Amino acid sequence: MVARSEFLSAVFDGREFDEHAVFSPNFKGKYVDNERGLRLLDSHDDGWLYCVSSVRWHGGRVHSRLRDLRRAYVLPLDDIGTKSRAPSVEPSYILETSEGNYQYGYLLEPYDVSNDRGANYYDGCLRAMAEAGYNDQGCIGAHRMIKMPGAINHKNKFVTRVTKWSPELRYSLKKLMKQFGVKAQRVSRKSAAEGHVSDLRNVKDPLYDWLVERGVKGHNDTFVYITCPWEFEHSSRGVVSGTGYSPLDYGVEGRQFKCMHGHCAQRGMAELLQWAATQGFDVSGLDDLEVLHNRLLRSAMRGYNNRRTTATTV
Ligand SMILES: [Zn+2]
Repeated sequence: MVARSEFLSAVFDGREFDEHAVFSPNFKGKYVDNERGLRLLDSHDDGWLYCVSSVRWHGGRVHSRLRDLRRAYVLPLDDIGTKSRAPSVEPSYILETSEGNYQYGYLLEPYDVSNDRGANYYDGCLRAMAEAGYNDQGCIGAHRMIKMPGAINHKNKFVTRVTKWSPELRYSLKKLMKQFGVKAQRVSRKSAAEGHVSDLRNVKDPLYDWLVERGVKGHNDTFVYITCPWEFEHSSRGVVSGTGYSPLDYGVEGRQFKCMHGHCAQRGMAELLQWAATQGFDVSGLDDLEVLHNRLLRSAMRGYNNRRTTATTV
C-alpha cells in the first residue's frame, strides 16, 4: 500500500519552491503539502482527493481555481473498465476507485497550465480522450480534483487502492497524446486570469450539464432559467424567468440558486443540491468543494438566523 503522502511526493516530484500540491478530505476544506497538511493527509481516513496541478500558495486559504494553477503533473483517465476503455500506453499508476472501476494516471513532465493556452490545451487533451472513449466525460479541467489511494467512499465503504505503481514512468504531455493517437480538442476558455465564464458553452459544471438534460428555459448573463423543484408550492405558475441557476463561475464566482417566489425566498444552493441528490445527481462529482462548502455553511446559518428572527417576532 502506497502512503498518501508518498504518493503525492512521487506525483509532484520536481516541483519548485513556490508550487504546492493541494488535497481535500471531501467537503472539508483544502490543504497544501506543508507539515500540517501532510500530517493530516496520512493520519485521517476520508474521501481524499488531490488536484492534478500544483498551485501558488502564499499562506491563508488554499485554492485550486484556474488563476492559481501552476503546472499539471498527471493526466488522469477515469472510469476505465466500466464507462471507458483502456488505452495501449502503459500508465504510471492504476487506482481501483470502485469495484472493477479504475483510474489510470499518467505522470507528466510538469506542464505549464498557469495561462489560458496551457490550461486549455491540457483540458483539450482530457476532452479528446473522453471523446475517444478513454476517459469519463466529466473528468476534465486543469483544476480537477481526483481520487487518491486509500480514499473512502462513504456511501459504499469502498477504499481506493493502487493496483499498479510505476512512478518512474513520466511522459511529455504532447508526446503522450501522440502515443495515444488522439488529437487534443480545441478549447478557448478565457478564464485562467479572472475566473469568470461569459459563454455558457464554456461552462464546466456537472450540475449545469445535469440540469440541461432535464431541460432549461433560456438564460441571461448570470442565470439559466429552470423549473423550480418546489413549483407545486408556488401561488402563481409559469413565470419563465422566476427561477434561476447560475452555473459554476458563469457571470459570478461559484454557483447560485434563486427563485423569486415567496415560498422559495430562503432556498439556496444547499437546498438545490439536496434536491438534486434525491433525484439521482452525484454530488461527489463537483470539484470546487471549498466554495460549495462555504455556501452550504452560509445557507445553513441563514436558515438558523431566520428561524431565530421568526421565533422572536411572532
Ligand atoms: Zn420556487
